[in-house]
Amino acid sequence: MSNQPVALVTGGAGFIGSHIVDLLLEQGSQVRVLDNLTGGRLQNLEHHKANPLLTFHNLDITTVELNHPIFGDVDWLFHMAGIGDIVPSIERPLDYFHTNAFGTARIAEAARNANVKRVVYAASSSCYGIAAVPTNELAPIDPQYPYALTKYIGEQTLFHWHQVYGLPVNSIRIFNAYGPRSRTSGAYGAVFGVFLRQKLAGKPLTVVGDGMQSRDFVYATDVARAFVAAAVTDKVGEIYNIGCGSPRTIDDLTKMLASEIVRIPERPGEPKCTWADISKITRELGWKPVVTLEEGVKELLQQISY
Ligand code: UDP
Repeated sequence: MSNQPVALVTGGAGFIGSHIVDLLLEQGSQVRVLDNLTGGRLQNLEHHKANPLLTFHNLDITTVELNHPIFGDVDWLFHMAGIGDIVPSIERPLDYFHTNAFGTARIAEAARNANVKRVVYAASSSCYGIAAVPTNELAPIDPQYPYALTKYIGEQTLFHWHQVYGLPVNSIRIFNAYGPRSRTSGAYGAVFGVFLRQKLAGKPLTVVGDGMQSRDFVYATDVARAFVAAAVTDKVGEIYNIGCGSPRTIDDLTKMLASEIVRIPERPGEPKCTWADISKITRELGWKPVVTLEEGVKELLQQISY
């Protein structure tokens, strides 16, 4: 038997999940991916096709059998599966509740059954709503839309399984993640995906308001390292914010992408600035981001074909 950890990545064919898969395989772990391919794409794992350490399972977190063999002998379970985007969550709140809250409870229960040694949850910084900055893990919780609420309920559910059943859980609240394989399709999505799609189509970038609002962008490979750090550590029951720790304006971003812009109206309820206080994860897990926005954007632009 190898002493490399066995990892299960729900949502492993998705944006951040697939970067965690990359890192785990690079480290020699056996990796199982559970994904129903609604948001994720097999193409995101294509480069590992010949790797015998990786298996893919087309399963849904809301229906997977609680005693499915995929949970057997798992050391690290990265729970990345869920549905995103703000506007559709306002239109279809129950779908979000079902997948993000109930689906997570199901994963918690399956992990408990299988005695999984560590669960790391992909939480969202949207739980803080419009927060004082820099925002640390003790900031008040104030979800502004169903996506934010249901991701937060998912997190609290896992912590409840930690408290009641001793399931070893850590949670990572991700600020604005970007990088290769972020979705560029669909009507909604994070600003990087939207801008890349517009750039690819030769269209101007749609800048909301004056573009002086800022976001704490963190590159996907840095995010993946944080998740593995939260699996390896002896600490459990902890929440960690991750971002790059210094916000940048949308205006800066458009300049780096070197595209024309068009201004669109401000969105009510949007924070002017998001900014993660990353001192806890830096202090406790020794994690800090290494990819600057300039490097990340350069890398992204090299990877997309025109
Ligand atoms: N944004 C923009 N143009 C777009 C989409 C977003 O200028 O087409 C801006 C938006 O105003 C916000 C930032 O990009 O300040 C990040 O938006 P996103 O939807 O990615 O995430 P969130 O607002 O949840 O941080």
